[in-house]
Amino acid sequence: MTTAIKGSTVAAMRDVVRVPNYIGGEFVAPASGRYIDNICPSTGEWMGEIPDSDDRDVDAAVQAAEKAFPAWSRTLASERSRLLLKIADLIEQNFEMLAYFESLDSGKPISLAKRLDIPRAMANFRFFATAILHQASEAYMTDAAALNYTLRRPLGVAGLISPWNLPLYLLTWKIAPAIAVGNTCVAKPSELTPITAKMLSKIVADAGLPPGVVNIVHGAGPKAGAALAAHPNVPVISFTGGTATGAKVAAAAAPRFKKISLELGGKNPNVIFADADVEQAIPTSIQSSFANQGEICLCGSRIFVERSIYKQFVERFVEATKRLRVGDPLEESTDVGALISEAHLKKVLGYIDLARSEGGTIVTGGHRIDRSGYFVEPTVITGLTCDCRVLQEEIFGPVVTITPFDSEEEAISFTNSTRYGLSASVWTRDLQRAHRVAAAIDSGTVWINCWLLRDLRVPFGGMKESGVGREGGVDSLRFFTEEKNVCVKL
Ligand code: NDP
Repeated sequence: MTTAIKGSTVAAMRDVVRVPNYIGGEFVAPASGRYIDNICPSTGEWMGEIPDSDDRDVDAAVQAAEKAFPAWSRTLASERSRLLLKIADLIEQNFEMLAYFESLDSGKPISLAKRLDIPRAMANFRFFATAILHQASEAYMTDAAALNYTLRRPLGVAGLISPWNLPLYLLTWKIAPAIAVGNTCVAKPSELTPITAKMLSKIVADAGLPPGVVNIVHGAGPKAGAALAAHPNVPVISFTGGTATGAKVAAAAAPRFKKISLELGGKNPNVIFADADVEQAIPTSIQSSFANQGEICLCGSRIFVERSIYKQFVERFVEATKRLRVGDPLEESTDVGALISEAHLKKVLGYIDLARSEGGTIVTGGHRIDRSGYFVEPTVITGLTCDCRVLQEEIFGPVVTITPFDSEEEAISFTNSTRYGLSASVWTRDLQRAHRVAAAIDSGTVWINCWLLRDLRVPFGGMKESGVGREGGVDSLRFFTEEKNVCVKL
């Protein structure tokens, strides 16, 4: 723990033991009076509890959001912007504490929370706070007969469901644009990582956001999440999570014709051509494979290497993997922390066993680490082909496969051989090939000679079973509003 947060952590610790819901500007207990245990991933010990909310809590939150909507949707953009910037400032003021609890709650290295999660939560609010000051709408002249122009208005109460891997980062990626354009919202964070969402409720209240604009209901996905997805007075749902859950959310939303955005799973390829700058490709591929224990939807879990450099690449990649420091997420020097839960640990170990039975070679790693908490060695597997389940299904852990390819056509067919299409990385110094391959890969994002280099203005989302719709920049502003065309006869 850093000295900077020692004093305040004691108070915050007391506060996070029992997390309340945040509804209509009040911190409240769930209607059921029941709570779900919150387990610390790096020790396996109980560290608190969160509301086991149900449809009654979701309904109360929706009512609070509906009540706040008329005034908030009419609030001037400049005032909404001011309040969002204030929230960003308060996140910045609480930076160390948010990073500490994000690491404690999710098992991610604190250095990553400081480098990625908390800065991005701030950036989300700043980005959308200022974006709404620069919006324009379209106009179309119909010869000399008419003027058409487009009005955009918020939709009402937005339902926002987010996962545990990037808790505050993804929660704010939804809340910020939803409320920036004048919606109110009910957010359901993952039951596994409630703490920074609880802290955000306090920040939102301290920033002076009117009660009911942001409501946060904690609880289990199949209960609280499902109630939100199906609620008749929630016309828009933004969901980030697994593909199977996304299908349930889509099914719940369909009978009400809700607007939905689904950011789902991935099985992302990382393609290394022989002419790549290997000095850069190796450290970046280590990051894209093992950052956040491989629990980032954008992690590159299938590495394809051109055969002429395959042997050399595997050797160097394995050497670099062995140098990763796995350990206490709260230590600044840790590279790889704990997996989120015991259930997830078992799933990841199950895939490593499957790799063995499918004929793969575990070149390094492959075991649970002998300590309390849910730690798995960073694992590299070779000798499997694209049709193996290990190369088809999302593992979402510190596990990568490396497979050789012989031609550009083969590399493209390998990359496109799964039902997913979220992101891809391509490493080559041949500019024409880079553009050709980028165009041929079925994925929502292609990085050339880099990974996770994000610009908040660009469209973000997945192809195939990795999602529906795009968020980011103008796409988020459009998603959270509804257009109306006005035609004026001249
Ligand atoms: P889940 O799909 O299990 O859960 C996501 C959220 O949905 C959680 O808040 C969960 O609640 C909730 N939920 C669960 N069941 C339902 C339901 N029936 N109705 C409504 N909501 C429900 O995903 P994980 O939390 O396990 O996150 C990992 C997955 O998220 C991976 O597949 C990963 O690829 C994907 N992901 C995708 C991203 C993208 O941008 N494409 C980014 C980050 C992650 P609870 O936690 O209480 O179960």
